[in-house]
Amino acid sequence: MASELEPEVQAIDRSLLECSAEEIAGKWLQATDLTREVYQHLAHYVPKIYCRGPNPFPQKEDMLAQHVLLGPMEWYLCGEDPAFGFPKLEQANKPSHLCGRVFKVGEPTYSCRDCAVDPTCVLCMECFLGSIHRDHRYRMTTSGGGGFCDCGDTEAWKEGPYCQKHELNTSEIEEEEDPLVHLSEDVIARTYNIFAIMFRYAVEILTWEKESELPADLEIIEKRDTYYCMLFNDEVHTYEQVIYTLQKAVNCTQKEAIGFATTVDRDGRRSVRYGDFQYCEQAKSVIVRNTSRQTKPLKVQVMHSSIVAHQNFGLKLLSWLGSIIGYSDGLRRILCQVGLQEGPDGENSSLVDRLMLNDSKLWKGARSVYHQLFMSSLLMDLKYKKLFAVRFAKNYQQLQRDFMEDDHERAVSVTALSVQFFTAPTLARMLITEENLMTIIIKTFMDHLRHRDAQGRFQFERYTALQAFKFRRVQSLILDLKYVLISKPTEWSDDLREKFLEGFDAFLELLKCMQGMDPITRQVGQHIEMEPEWEAAFTLQMKLTHVISMMQDWCALDEKVLIEAYKKCLAVLMQCHGGFTDGEQPITLSICGHSVETIRYCVSQEKVSIHLPVSRLLAGLHVLLSKSEVAYKFPELLPLSELSPPMLIEHPLRCLVLCAQVHAGMWRRNGFSLVNQIYYYHNVKCRREMFDKDIIMLQTGVSMMDPNHFLMIMLSRFELYQIFSTPDYGKRFSSEITHKDVVQQNNTLIEEMLYLIIMLVGERFSPGVGQVNATDEIKREIIHQLSIKPMAHSELVKSLPEDENKETGMESVIEAVAHFKKPGLTGRGMYELKPECAKEFNLYFYHFSRAEQSKAEEAQRKLKRQNREDTALPPPVLPPFCPLFASLVNILQSDVMLCIMRTVLQWAVEHNGYAWSESMLQRVLHLIGMALQEEKQHLDNVTEEHVVTFTFTQKISKPGEAPNNSPSILAMLETLQSAPYLDVHKDMIRWILKTFNAIKKIRESSSTSPVAETEGTIMEESSRDKDKAERKRKAEIARLRREKIMAQMSEMQRHFIDENKELFQQTLELDASTSAVLDNSPMVSDTALTALGPAQTQVPEQRQFVTCILCQEEQEVKVESKAMVLAAFVQRSTVLSKNRSKFIQDPEKYDPLFMHPDLSCGTHTGSCGHIMHAHCWQRYFDSVQAKEQRRQQRLRLHTSYDVENGEFLCPLCECLSNTVIPLLLPPRNIFNSRLNISDQPKLTQWIRTISQQIKALQVLRKEESIPNTASSKNSENMDELQLPEGFRPDFHPKNPYSESIKEMLTTFGTATYKVGLKVHPNEEDPRVPIMCWGSCAYTIQSIERILSDEDKPLFGPLPCRLDDCLRSLTRFAAAHWTVASLSVVQGHFCKLFASLVPDDKHGDLPCILDIDMFHLLVGLVLAFPALQCQDFSGISLGTGDLHIFHLVTMAHIIQILLTSCTALKETPSGWHLWRNVRNGIMPFLKCSALFFHYLNGVPSPPEIQVSGTSHFEHLCNYLSLPNNLICLFQENNEITKLLIESWCHNIEVKRYLEGERDAISYPRESNKLIDLPEDYSSLINQASNFSCPKSGGDKSRAPTLCLVCGTLLCSQSYCCQTELEGEDVGACTAHTYSCGSGVGIFLRVRECQVLFLAGKTKGCFYSPPYLDDYGETDQGLRRGNPLHLCKERFKKIQKLWHQHSITEEIGHAQEANQTLVGIDWQHL
Ligand SMILES: [Zn+2]
Ligand SMILES: [Zn+2]
Ligand SMILES: [Zn+2]
Ligand SMILES: [Zn+2]
Ligand SMILES: [Zn+2]
Ligand SMILES: [Zn+2]
Ligand SMILES: [Zn+2]
Repeated sequence: MASELEPEVQAIDRSLLECSAEEIAGKWLQATDLTREVYQHLAHYVPKIYCRGPNPFPQKEDMLAQHVLLGPMEWYLCGEDPAFGFPKLEQANKPSHLCGRVFKVGEPTYSCRDCAVDPTCVLCMECFLGSIHRDHRYRMTTSGGGGFCDCGDTEAWKEGPYCQKHELNTSEIEEEEDPLVHLSEDVIARTYNIFAIMFRYAVEILTWEKESELPADLEIIEKRDTYYCMLFNDEVHTYEQVIYTLQKAVNCTQKEAIGFATTVDRDGRRSVRYGDFQYCEQAKSVIVRNTSRQTKPLKVQVMHSSIVAHQNFGLKLLSWLGSIIGYSDGLRRILCQVGLQEGPDGENSSLVDRLMLNDSKLWKGARSVYHQLFMSSLLMDLKYKKLFAVRFAKNYQQLQRDFMEDDHERAVSVTALSVQFFTAPTLARMLITEENLMTIIIKTFMDHLRHRDAQGRFQFERYTALQAFKFRRVQSLILDLKYVLISKPTEWSDDLREKFLEGFDAFLELLKCMQGMDPITRQVGQHIEMEPEWEAAFTLQMKLTHVISMMQDWCALDEKVLIEAYKKCLAVLMQCHGGFTDGEQPITLSICGHSVETIRYCVSQEKVSIHLPVSRLLAGLHVLLSKSEVAYKFPELLPLSELSPPMLIEHPLRCLVLCAQVHAGMWRRNGFSLVNQIYYYHNVKCRREMFDKDIIMLQTGVSMMDPNHFLMIMLSRFELYQIFSTPDYGKRFSSEITHKDVVQQNNTLIEEMLYLIIMLVGERFSPGVGQVNATDEIKREIIHQLSIKPMAHSELVKSLPEDENKETGMESVIEAVAHFKKPGLTGRGMYELKPECAKEFNLYFYHFSRAEQSKAEEAQRKLKRQNREDTALPPPVLPPFCPLFASLVNILQSDVMLCIMRTVLQWAVEHNGYAWSESMLQRVLHLIGMALQEEKQHLDNVTEEHVVTFTFTQKISKPGEAPNNSPSILAMLETLQSAPYLDVHKDMIRWILKTFNAIKKIRESSSTSPVAETEGTIMEESSRDKDKAERKRKAEIARLRREKIMAQMSEMQRHFIDENKELFQQTLELDASTSAVLDNSPMVSDTALTALGPAQTQVPEQRQFVTCILCQEEQEVKVESKAMVLAAFVQRSTVLSKNRSKFIQDPEKYDPLFMHPDLSCGTHTGSCGHIMHAHCWQRYFDSVQAKEQRRQQRLRLHTSYDVENGEFLCPLCECLSNTVIPLLLPPRNIFNSRLNISDQPKLTQWIRTISQQIKALQVLRKEESIPNTASSKNSENMDELQLPEGFRPDFHPKNPYSESIKEMLTTFGTATYKVGLKVHPNEEDPRVPIMCWGSCAYTIQSIERILSDEDKPLFGPLPCRLDDCLRSLTRFAAAHWTVASLSVVQGHFCKLFASLVPDDKHGDLPCILDIDMFHLLVGLVLAFPALQCQDFSGISLGTGDLHIFHLVTMAHIIQILLTSCTALKETPSGWHLWRNVRNGIMPFLKCSALFFHYLNGVPSPPEIQVSGTSHFEHLCNYLSLPNNLICLFQENNEITKLLIESWCHNIEVKRYLEGERDAISYPRESNKLIDLPEDYSSLINQASNFSCPKSGGDKSRAPTLCLVCGTLLCSQSYCCQTELEGEDVGACTAHTYSCGSGVGIFLRVRECQVLFLAGKTKGCFYSPPYLDDYGETDQGLRRGNPLHLCKERFKKIQKLWHQHSITEEIGHAQEANQTLVGIDWQHL
């Protein structure tokens, strides 16, 4: 480092280093014109420090600036050494009780849902943890940067405004104490001087616009010709465009260009070239030319270096000021004074004003620096915050105008500070009364939306791109308006009333421009050509929804305001629609002797609009009049007489008729835009201020009208008047008009109209309409949502309207109406409706969509059937109306209503003659039910003196009048009850008749007018019905059972893959147990089972038959038959790795013969267990390959598998596979024909024999390898060679396998080699057999780990796919040598053998500390046949296996002893030693047992099949080991001594014992995923402190945590892309290559989402292990509920990892969701 820095330091001007801060400050203290003195100093030094070359040197610049520029200022300010001065100031300071911590991007913030005044009030993590709110209902979000902590702001919190830390200071606050009293006069004066000069300097230089000329007092004489070509950021050009352009313009590499672009994006500007003027100009013109084609060009300036230097220092200065005022509140106050002091140019000339007004001209970096300064100064000083707020409000219009012109995001605009003032209640109130803020905001907003139609309404049609862009930006003004209104006044002053009403006027003006906007006309004949624009209008409506609601809330708080607002609103509505009868002749309607005049208007022919905000606001205010009882208290103050009910209802009615007609299919030719509008009109986001208010407006109007009149007008608007006013019209109509569509249309319209009547009478759950409170309203919503189906918390929240604080009020009532059911390992927690709430269910609930309605109906009927009740869904009992709306119930008993009911019933009775529908009838029945409920309630609540005027029962008992003389409604109902075509409604009709009789009884008990005769028949009928009902019920139950089974079956088919998985899991237990039984059955003898050696238990040959999943043919597995194969997936793995920093550097040269005990890079083989013929698989794979090639040419689509790499999906279960394993019989039996059990050599003798054989082979090899020896001489040598007895090196055994099996042995071997080493396939490579043995060993080790970790028995029920896989893999590995070169395999054996029994040939072998003994064992055992096959001396394979196993076990024991250091050094008891060895060796023994079990097919001893205490003895018996392992050494002591000596005298072992190196100790711990914190927010906090490692302390945008090793990465960002195998990849992908050999498990912290990656192209998201209290995950952190770790779910992820199933999981996810395939995973 030092040597690198020195030339830099030398380059520094000596004069700079010689400056003395104290001297300069002294000079300044004497100065008469301080400003001039300081400016001269700056003019001289700043360009000497900053901008000395093409690239900035921040450390050096900062160091020099502190020394030469800031140091003197600090000295001057303190009047002494600042090292003493500042601490003194700090001590004297009474610190603020405000926290004011400014949030970094991504930092967690907390808001209390119980106590925060509004959701913008937030706490930093530290304050939150020390506050009372941590036990409240809180919400957690991540900051977008820019806000600050509100701890200590008493206005922000209803309770607990201070955390523990900031509470400390509150006791000392004296009201409005001036912080300056803590400072001396001198300090005040000096601070004032220096602050004034420096602040002014910074503002001046930052707002300086000339490019090559400095302000006069900073100009220097000798100016060098050094310029910068400065590139500025904009939001128009993409990263790629900028990078491309830069490469062209300044001739830089892509990497440099990325660096420039990143800085430009972050800081807002960056110099891209340094040099003389010409040189920079040239770059500028290229950039401008290259980017001006489609859009406006990138902004580039050629600036003189001295200007850039001063600007850089200006920014430094602002940060310095920010930090200096941190020492003392007094200093802060002085800075505020300086900043807000009016300048020489009067109004708007203070420094603060100047900065604000130049905001849009400044670059991003400069803005954020001064915004931060404002936050730490002006906003932290309560007195000046107010003054600042006033300045902000005064400049509001100008700032917004600038913002509109600017293209930067709002977050970096000064306008975003509005939230800091507007949400503070007293400030907001002050700004409204003193600055008329409401009016200003609304007027400013209107100013920016000037595009109007002829009637003065907003017109969004044919917006240009620029207008659309502005429209998006102007919406932030609505947010400001919302902030201002968010806290409601508790007291009203006259001023406030006046200014609020003035604002209200402005608001009405705004709504007036929306009333009737986007009118539409029904398209007949041709379909519309272009979908009209509708989104802008709805965006506006949606954004305003809360504001409209809040306006009403404000009005509700003050009677005077409410009355005035009501008057104003009505006046505006009259302006809008006063002349709505213009030029139209009124028409007269009459039915049943009632007649009314109305206008001639047809929705289907004339213009109609969905936007009626003025009417809807009036409806809202009207309800408030009712709710607050103002209507009864001050009727004389209200313009009630001016209300014209027909005028009020006209437009809302048209809108509802429009919906009905759209539903009836009459507007099909108007396209999707209309469908969308209707959708949003009813949607939960809009309905509160749209659909709901239209219903209320109709209720308002109708409550003031004769219901008969209303019904006639309604019939006319629905274009149904003719049908109901003309007797027999219906009959004529249906016979005359044969057009089915029209009949259908009319039916739907009638249904819709009836539905509307149901709503008008039945919807009384808005407080003010009915006698209910807000809780009743929300309860009812929830009941109806849960009537559809049980729902998760978030689902329920989504279906409920949120208020401006994002609250639904759900928590307060949910307990009362629902039970909570906890989630399992997957899925979510669910709320279920309490059964007792079902009676409140209303089938015609007005917020149901049609789909929801039919789902709810079905669910409720099903419930009733389950409870063995009848299936009638009668209307619920409703709360009474408020007096203002009370007359609405009369609709039900009005003559026209009765006429409509009668008509529909008549149609149903004579059901063949008319066009009618069951839904129509169902609605009429519902209406009748409602009327009966109403009458019953009236009777129940009646007091003595009152007469019940609701006489529905009497009216329906009367027959119809002339001329049609129809029977009474009651009579018709009785007829319909037995109509066979109305089975579904029978229960409902019965309910109606029952209720009718009940009401009659009540009436009879008060008066005497018997109507007994009908009752008898009803009773009789109902008993007859009962029998029928019973029979029907039984049939129904049977039908349901059938349906259920059918449903289950189809469900099974649908989730075939999942089901299969499940089935495997389920059947594996059966399978495993049966297979175990099969294995055992031939030999139930009590003799101990032995897996290997000469004493190996003999297993009778078992024939194995398997079925090919492709051709379904069965075949026996035999040596000479066609090969059967198992789909398999080979992958590299680091799951067991103890050293993640290690990876294969150069795969071409890597020698995998010895596996290091850190298991750092293994090869894992897995299989789904599905079997095919080799040739069937080959054909299948070829077709997949061909299809894929065609597809890639055509579409260039990705797939979830990579055919070029040999990947395919298992044809049965779609499991990702990349090769196949051949199925084989136990290969040892084939080669063990020359078995001679008696007289086998002991270990010592065996080792000697083998050593001799090896020596002989080596001599032979040497002969062969000398090229120029003649063949004759060669044979001579052969004779000289002393061959051990019975050893015939010239013998080459015949391969017993069929061609097809041999081919598959090679295929799988090559695949393992290719994937394991990541090299090109080469079946000749000598490393192929090693890789096969390695994969076998590694896979067994990983399965042993899983079983141990889960405490499962070694030979317990293993999933059969695992069992099959291990068996095939082991047998394959044992047979592979037959297709490899014999000498190669022999060579491997010799080398492996030499690692334990040293010979003089192999000197450079690893010491026993550096060998994984199980890999060694597998290698030796599987390579041994290559040597043994040439041995005719009678040594059996089994003997070799046993000796190899004993030898390796001994080596492993020594290894364990050596590495359990403490045991050796502290000379513990023998018992300790023994325990260490036993624990250390267990995994090895277990792996060996698995290995020999699968190799030789000897069944496992039953003891090891069950879990329980350690099976050490059983394992030893099974493996032919003495229970006391020391015996191994004693039995063979002649050779063991030599061996142990050779092992321990190794130089590496010595180094280890002397502490110079490390070694793995045993048993190796299982790897686990990292520990995650219980509370998710601590992860967020950790991530927010994480900065990108590449771009100098910048916050990472997508911090991502590797769950394997705990590394935090800067993902999904250009800055951290690296090159991997010639491709640019993101940080995550790069990390997977070192940490997980291509496989990665990450947590995306900001998104709360688990990410699985495999290779460069595969990935998927997985649900995170964090749940909220409702048992739901929150991917994307949208809801912000507190999240806690769910250990079970995290374990599940860990299990996927341990099982090597990540890639498989990704494959399944990608198959299920094709969009995942298209994501560029490598860029994450
Ligand atoms: Zn705080
Ligand atoms: Zn605090
Ligand atoms: Zn709280
Ligand atoms: Zn087949
Ligand atoms: Zn499969
Ligand atoms: Zn990692
Ligand atoms: Zn980065």
